[in-house]
Amino acid sequence: MSNPLLLSGDAAAAALLDRAQSELASLLVKPHLHVVRLGDDPASVSYTRMKARRAKKIGLESTLTELPSDTSEAALLELIAALNADPLTHGILVQLPFPKESAVREAVVLEAIHPDKDVDGLHVVNVGRLWSGREGLRPCTPAGIISMLDFYGIDLARKSVVIVNRSQLVGKPLAALCLERNATVTIAHSRTADLEAVTRAADVLVTAVGRVGFITPEMVKPGGVVIDVSVNRIVVDGADRLVGDCASGVFDVAGAITPVPGGVGPMTVSHLLYNTVLAAKRQLERSQSTSSD
Ligand code: NAP
Repeated sequence: MSNPLLLSGDAAAAALLDRAQSELASLLVKPHLHVVRLGDDPASVSYTRMKARRAKKIGLESTLTELPSDTSEAALLELIAALNADPLTHGILVQLPFPKESAVREAVVLEAIHPDKDVDGLHVVNVGRLWSGREGLRPCTPAGIISMLDFYGIDLARKSVVIVNRSQLVGKPLAALCLERNATVTIAHSRTADLEAVTRAADVLVTAVGRVGFITPEMVKPGGVVIDVSVNRIVVDGADRLVGDCASGVFDVAGAITPVPGGVGPMTVSHLLYNTVLAAKRQLERSQSTSSD
């Protein structure tokens, strides 16, 4: 097989942002996203600035607070408490991972964010809401993948989905979302026996291992859908390049595949903005129903 359908994140993200903007038009306030970053890791600097910039571009308010890498946990928790209490802040995102030298505990910080402002969807309350099928903020990368599949009309019902990743950020929440869509889901990881046989049986294979060339053509079902979540930095001719997990030969086997860059990445950012609009809408509805009680 050659020339698989390229699942463009840019096209699917534009559709998702259209949805966010039509919700936005019905709101009486401008949703406000507050992004917080510790330290100056180049990738984190670029991600946080891009998120704050894109938020403004679609008509949201955004603030980026850049803190030194030696910021104490207490100081960060104080900032989060103030943002939780601020009715004009609708979404809070703390960029992960923290710098290696930081003593701040990620889990403590994630749990300090009010679940209704947790636009990354990683608070345990939102994890519980996801697994129990209740309304909540969904994690951006998995929800972005589902929006992309919807955009391209790829129905998961009765399909076999294999996810090579079991992190809280990608694999576990994506499994829950695929189950909601009536897929039969397998989560594979570093201890999975005969990984090639497992992945080759997948109608939809999602890889987020973080290793260049990890997925070879033999691991892919001919004509299957491949979603490559990974972002690996390599140097080619002295220049930095981003690539996923798939070896180039996978493009000859897959029926549809996400490019890296330009695949899952734009969906993740767009879902963050969508979540911010949704969070603002729900907070406003709640405050209106409380004031009318
Ligand atoms: P992670 O926590 O390190 O997860 C990596 C997963 O790969 C783990 O579940 C690990 O299994 C599995 N793995 C490692 N070696 C393996 C092997 N030999 N065979 C099978 N499975 C193996 O990383 P993450 O935070 O989930 O991120 C994964 C990748 O996605 C990274 O490249 C990251 O940059 C990218 N990412 C991209 C986006 C985006 O928007 N595009 C968003 C989030 C993440 P074990 O659990 O057994 O160790």
